[in-house]
Amino acid sequence: STAARSSLKIGLIPADGIGKEVIPAARQAIEALGSDIPKPEFVDLPAGWETFTKTGVALPQETVDILRSDCDCALFGSVSSPSRKVVGYSSPIVALRKELDLYANIRPVTSVSLQVGEKPAVDLIVVRENTECLYVKQETSTVGEHGKEARATRLITERASRRIGRMAFELAQARPRKHLTIIHKSNVLSITDGLFRETVRGVPSLPELDGKFNEVTIAEQLVDSAVYRLFREPEVFDVMVAPNLYGDIISDAAAALVGSLGLIPSVNAGDNFVMGEPVHGSAPDIEGKGIANPLASIRSAALMLRHLGYTNGANRLDEAVDAVIREGTTLTPDLKGTSSTQEVLEAVLKRL
Ligand code: ATP
Ligand code: MG
Repeated sequence: STAARSSLKIGLIPADGIGKEVIPAARQAIEALGSDIPKPEFVDLPAGWETFTKTGVALPQETVDILRSDCDCALFGSVSSPSRKVVGYSSPIVALRKELDLYANIRPVTSVSLQVGEKPAVDLIVVRENTECLYVKQETSTVGEHGKEARATRLITERASRRIGRMAFELAQARPRKHLTIIHKSNVLSITDGLFRETVRGVPSLPELDGKFNEVTIAEQLVDSAVYRLFREPEVFDVMVAPNLYGDIISDAAAALVGSLGLIPSVNAGDNFVMGEPVHGSAPDIEGKGIANPLASIRSAALMLRHLGYTNGANRLDEAVDAVIREGTTLTPDLKGTSSTQEVLEAVLKRL
């Protein structure tokens, strides 16, 4: 991921709810980076519940085609989910991950330190495998001797474990501490979690990597005690890598450590594409009020740019966001402020 592009084409998929308010804010923040990002071009693309109600499909084929053939990356907002099951509707974000083979969900969780230059109390990245584990959704039920029996298949493959492991080592290698914790439960699930653990452990000795990750220190933690430690001493963690289900739980738990959902970014990454996505949902309770916190989306844009190798631009966005949080005078209501989305965006733009 090096920044060799002469222009950067970014797909924008605001989708539903506050996604329509925060993704345009992220776009303006990217535009304000000037020469750090050569000629960003934006293309608006439909997807989501509203698209489904209008057209009968949640993820139009054209959206996928344009992302694949024209875009280097994308920013996704949030989707409303119908309160009951609707025939023919399925989440476009899940479909997009599949279509673009975005096998990693990367979620940094960082608290903002009060003093500039002071070490943040929480500064970690959760790397979640995004394609298998229990999320292959192979469930069956039968009636047995003791009544109904339900089963779910949990799939762990060497290929998926190796590529997520590699992504996690890359991230750890790029950080000052260079420390990776493998999350599993192989004391109970020795075959599936055992394969995950062994495969990730084996990544640094892959011949083609030529010792690239030799400096990364490796630790392991059972998922239950990892959650406990996350709350007791989050500073022990740097990069954490986990199979899909544990990663899902750990990343939400880690998010709780730093407060509002409106602050937490993520990217969905594959070998050929990266898509930024704020962790929060469509927030129907505040939709259309102009008070959604745009900082998670701006941070998601930073993360996406960092993944593509635009380190300067990414750092500038992160620093501007941190400065606005630290200053504490222009914040949306989720952070106990009284400012609007637009005012917070303007504070960030001013810093840039
Ligand atoms: P969805 O079904 O789309 O996930 P949800 O009801 O679960 O929606 P979330 O979007 O996950 O809602 O948000 C949970 C709570 O956090 C809501 O009260 C919401 O208003 C708040 N929240 C989430 N994101 C933001 C944001 N960017 N700014 C302010 N508040 C937010
Ligand atoms: Mg939600």
